[in-house]
Amino acid sequence: MTAKVNSLTIALTRGRILSETLPLLREAGIEPIGDIAGSRKLRFATSREGVSLLVMRGSDVPVYVENGAADMGVAGKDMLLEYGGEGLYEPLDLGIARCRLMIAAPHPVAATGGRPRVATKFTGIAKRWFAEQGRQVELIKLNGALEIAPAMGLADAIVDIVDTGGTLRANGLEPIETIAEISSRVIVNKASMKIKSQAIRAILDALSAAVARRPA
Ligand code: AMP
Repeated sequence: MTAKVNSLTIALTRGRILSETLPLLREAGIEPIGDIAGSRKLRFATSREGVSLLVMRGSDVPVYVENGAADMGVAGKDMLLEYGGEGLYEPLDLGIARCRLMIAAPHPVAATGGRPRVATKFTGIAKRWFAEQGRQVELIKLNGALEIAPAMGLADAIVDIVDTGGTLRANGLEPIETIAEISSRVIVNKASMKIKSQAIRAILDALSAAVARRPA
């Protein structure tokens, strides 16, 4: 399934990534018509004819793009690593919403017999990471309330997104190891890249120029 040839749909991640993406899109000549950050509407026309924007959770962006329900998308690298991005192109790092995916544990690290229990939303990434290192762990899938899991005896460690480290410190945890450096990436549907290459290339060029103009 691919959208109409003369139209182009871009799926955006709501929240912090959206607020950092909008100025770059504006510089690339694409402005949503309507209150995209405040409305419950999920689809917006833009100042550029034929280009529309969708807003959704980051985990849904690669699903829309890989299946051609959106031609392009913006999502955190954490979401792309978890999704497994073989069916997508990832042509541009926007350098926004930077953070790290880290293993964190209580200080001092509790000595555990047997397999450590690791709580995370990112079970796909964590499974691959520990397997590559030959480390045996028991993964516990949580959707939130991660940082409190060790204190409550649910897990020995967590794998989570860390920005300033404030959330970890507030919950008596400390960063142990970095699994991946995260930032937001532009992804493109493989068929759209062929069929709509001119329009997509123009947007990618304008976005990368906007990224290059930003102060380091
Ligand atoms: P901090 O306390 O600054 O280390 O922020 C960590 C918390 O903020 C984590 O629980 C994350 O869920 C969230 N967070 C911070 N930065 C990002 C980001 N770029 N993408 C997604 N979540 C983030």
